[in-house]
Amino acid sequence: MASKLAAECIFCRIIKGEIPSVKLLETPTTFAFLDIGPLSEGHALVIPKYHAEKLHQLPDEFLADTLPVAKKIAAALNLENYNVLQNNGRLAHQEVPHVHFHVIPKPNREEGLT
Ligand code: 5GP
Ligand code: ZN
Repeated sequence: MASKLAAECIFCRIIKGEIPSVKLLETPTTFAFLDIGPLSEGHALVIPKYHAEKLHQLPDEFLADTLPVAKKIAAALNLENYNVLQNNGRLAHQEVPHVHFHVIPKPNREEGLT
């Protein structure tokens, strides 16, 4: 499937390998890697190999693999508590204008407590 990437986009450049990342998983339409500013250990990002800023602009064929990849990451990391988050637009806290899903592990804060 032909991907559509943008020269100036940080995440498109990560997909192309022009910017280094810690890759977790890749499919023909999707790329997953660790967030550079993790909210918790293992915070991952899942992105389509298609440059669309917001979810409603993304063709379905590039959306199809994103949640299955997020699911594989959650299973591989053996996560019990986690959030899957997807922001659209500046007021909704989107910083990088390329569709992405966060997989954010929720550490067990009760560990070690008596
Ligand atoms: P947003 O606020 O747009 O939903 O989230 C963007 C996320 O991308 C942030 O959590 C931020 O840490 C991450 N990020 C921004 N630039 C880079 C980068 O160059 N590499 C990686 N791995 N993550 C990035
Ligand atoms: Zn992009």
